[in-house]
Amino acid sequence: MTPVLLVLNAGSSSLKFQVFEAGEAEDPGRLFRGLFEGLDGSARLLIRDGAGVVVADETVEAPAPGHEAALLHVAAWLRANSRDLRLAAVGHRVVHGGRAYAEPVQVDAAVLEALERLVPLAPLHQPHNLEPIRIVRRRFPDLPQVACFDTAFHRDQPEMAQLFALPHAMTEAGVRRYGFHGLSYAYVASVLAEYDPTLAAGRVVVAHLGNGASLCALRDGRSVATTMGFSALDGLPMGTRCGSLDASVVFYMLREMKLSPQEAERMLYTQSGLLGVSGLSNDMRKLRALAATDPDARRAIDLFVYRMGRELGSLVAALGGIDALIFTGGIGENDAATRAEVLRAAAWAGFELDEAANASGGPRVTRGPGPTAWVVPTDEELMIARGTREVLGRSQRQPAL
Ligand code: ADP
Repeated sequence: MTPVLLVLNAGSSSLKFQVFEAGEAEDPGRLFRGLFEGLDGSARLLIRDGAGVVVADETVEAPAPGHEAALLHVAAWLRANSRDLRLAAVGHRVVHGGRAYAEPVQVDAAVLEALERLVPLAPLHQPHNLEPIRIVRRRFPDLPQVACFDTAFHRDQPEMAQLFALPHAMTEAGVRRYGFHGLSYAYVASVLAEYDPTLAAGRVVVAHLGNGASLCALRDGRSVATTMGFSALDGLPMGTRCGSLDASVVFYMLREMKLSPQEAERMLYTQSGLLGVSGLSNDMRKLRALAATDPDARRAIDLFVYRMGRELGSLVAALGGIDALIFTGGIGENDAATRAEVLRAAAWAGFELDEAANASGGPRVTRGPGPTAWVVPTDEELMIARGTREVLGRSQRQPAL
C-alpha cells in the first residue's frame, strides 16, 4: 500500500484537494487534484489525475452536501478508485497562524483551540479552513493532521515591516501586519535557483497576481516586506477587494453613508477591485477581452497596473534595489499583457521587456543588463504536502512516512 497525503484547501462553498505520494522522493509526487464546488447548493466534483486527465466529473444533487459530506465523498472515492493507497495524513491550508506559528504544525486539541482564537483576525477565511480539521478529527481520529499557514513565511520579517504606527497596546493586542500568500512565496523562493542561481541570494520581488493579489520582497529567499497587512484586504487592488484604502473611508461609510459594518466589509471585500472599478467583472481574462472597446474595463486594468507599480516601488525601497521581479498566480502566469504593462511602468528600475519571450510565457521575460523578470508557476499545494511530510517525519523521528 502506498502511503499518501491528502492536501485540503477549504473555502466557504468549495473544497479543493490534492493527493500526493508520501514516499521518500525529493518532492511528493502528485496523484490527484480535485475540486468540489457549490457546496451550498448543487455540488460538482471534478477530479484529475497527476497528468491532468479528468477521472471524475460528478454532479452531487441536493440535499446540499456541505464540507463533511464532501470530505466523506472524496474519501470514499479514493478508497473505491485507488485501493492500493493508504491515507497517512492530511495537510490543511490555514490562512492565519497569528504571531505564534512561523512553520507548519501538527494539529492537536491545543493547536486547534489556538487557531480558533484567530478567527476574528480572518473571519471570512479561517472558519472554513478549520472546519475540515474538526471533521477529520471526529471521523478519523487517528489520522495525523498538519496545518500550513499563509502568514507563516512572513514571521521573521524585520520588526519595522510588521508594525503599524499605532499605540503600542494595539500592537500587543495583535493589530499588526501579518502578510498572506506565504505558501505561494515560500514555494517560489524554493525554486528560484532552478531559474537562475543568482536569484536565490538576490533582491527579488514576487508578484502573486490571482483573484487575491499581493507582492512580497525577498532577500536571500526570505520575506522582508509584503503588501498585505493585518488582513488580505491590504495592498494591491484585487478581483473584488479594494487593496490599500485610507482608513477614514471606512469611518465615512459607517458614519455618513450609514452602512453597517457588515455592508462596508462586504463592499470592500466583494464589490471592489477590478469588479468595482469596471462594473463588469472580477475576471482579468474577461476585462482584457473588453479593454480595447470598453473604457470601464480599461480603467480597471490601468488602476491595477498603476497600483502595482506604486507598491513595487515601495518594496524596491525596502530591499534597497531590485535584481528580479517574479510573476506568479493566474494573472501573473497567464496574462502577458499585464506583465508587459507592469514592466513598462517599471522601466525606471532598469527593466527591459523582451516582447517575444513575454508573449510565449518566458520563463525569462526581460533582456539587457538590468534587473530580470520571470514567470514562475506557483504550487501552494505542493508546499503543503512538503510541510506535512516534514512535520510528520519530525514527529515520528523518521525522514519520511
Ligand atoms: P485564485 O487567487 O482564486 O487562486 P488564480 O490564481 O487562478 O485565482 O487567478 C485567477 C485570475 O487569473 C483571474 O482574474 C483570471 O482571469 C486570471 N487569468 C487566468 N488565466 C488568464 C489568462 N490567460 N489571461 C488573463 N488572465 C487570466
